[in-house]
Amino acid sequence: MTLLRAELPPTAGLPARWRDFAPPWQHDFAAQAAAWLGADWALLTSSGTAALWIALAALRTLAPQRRRVVLPAYTCPLVAEAVLRAGLTPRLCDTRPGHFDFDPGQLADCCDADTLAIVSTHLAGRVADVALARRLAASCGAFVIEDGAQAFGAQAKGADGAWRSLGLAGDIGVYSFSVGKGLTLYEGGLLLARDARVRNALGDAERSLRRHAPLLELRRCAELLGYAALYRPRTLGLVYGAPLRRALARGDVVAAVGDSPRRGIPLHRVGAFRQSAGARGLARYRAHLQAARDRAAALRAHLLTLPGLHVLADADDQHGIWMFLLLHLPSAAARDRALAPLWGAGLGVTRLFAHALPDYPQLRGRIESPALPQARAFAARTLALGNSHWLRPQAMARVLAALRAALN
Ligand SMILES: *Cc1c(COP(=O)(O)O)cnc(C)c1O
Repeated sequence: MTLLRAELPPTAGLPARWRDFAPPWQHDFAAQAAAWLGADWALLTSSGTAALWIALAALRTLAPQRRRVVLPAYTCPLVAEAVLRAGLTPRLCDTRPGHFDFDPGQLADCCDADTLAIVSTHLAGRVADVALARRLAASCGAFVIEDGAQAFGAQAKGADGAWRSLGLAGDIGVYSFSVGKGLTLYEGGLLLARDARVRNALGDAERSLRRHAPLLELRRCAELLGYAALYRPRTLGLVYGAPLRRALARGDVVAAVGDSPRRGIPLHRVGAFRQSAGARGLARYRAHLQAARDRAAALRAHLLTLPGLHVLADADDQHGIWMFLLLHLPSAAARDRALAPLWGAGLGVTRLFAHALPDYPQLRGRIESPALPQARAFAARTLALGNSHWLRPQAMARVLAALRAALN
């Protein structure tokens, strides 16, 4: 009885309230999100992937002779899809050991006169080294895109000592409001930019790529209402747990993670109903982040008692978000031993991504496939633990027991 079995979510999404959906539907979500982030300009898009596509199309108009986009080899496969959709070539850069962020030496090797942009990527709520990407981008004349899809609400301390939202240090910042990203419009994205020339290029690209799609928008409204109704342990098994267990039963890791190929990248306007729902959620989001941070601190204290386990965390000049915790185990075998009893057990444990980018079947043959030992090791040694407020001590004890057994 999947309906009655408690299913914990893999990320601590902001629960909706019914009055989020009540009229009047008059909010300008982009303006409110920009103000919330401390930015004075933002553009709302139909998804994070759409935002990346628009960003790359815009940069192409600013540097038409450049064709390569540097990506960390461990990231969301939709990022590679956006690069390909923009008619550009992904250049995969290996990560530093035990981390998702660029290896500095490898990144330097990836930059040349053909580099259009470096996509500095903040994964799992943690903060990437944007200053490194900026330095190397400046050395070869490329732009920096900050992919903050998994870090809406995270901040970093600037060289001047001031705390700033991520997405404002590069040339373009990208956020996602898809399901599972904390604050959700079911699907949605946001573009940030500081420079007037870049803002204009983004606006032009968005207008020329956007299609009129009222039926798709209607469907997204229904999906957002469905999410609001079902995002709780009593019913999450139906929409999340059951498909996950079916995918695991047939050995489909990509589907189990939710990384299955999607059809196209729809680019249309987010309507007033969803914008209002998002804006009302935004009013509660700061408190939601703080509660998640407090829970994560308690979970980390438990996890750090396990020898050999590393939990990705923040440096002193970083203030990430904690929708889930990313755990790094000493070997792929230990990770697989830990995941076996936990994945599909309804405890909110999963992999962040199924693979390093070249190992996704849908990308094979469409992107380059260099060695990338560190990104592949990171994909093989990590797992994600959802940090929802429904994760009670009894469930956490089961997670800890499985990890302890796997580490022995
Ligand atoms: C989810 C995600 C995206 C794509 O965002 P969508 O809104 O799902 O299209 C891009 N980059 C990263 C790192 C992501 O996690």
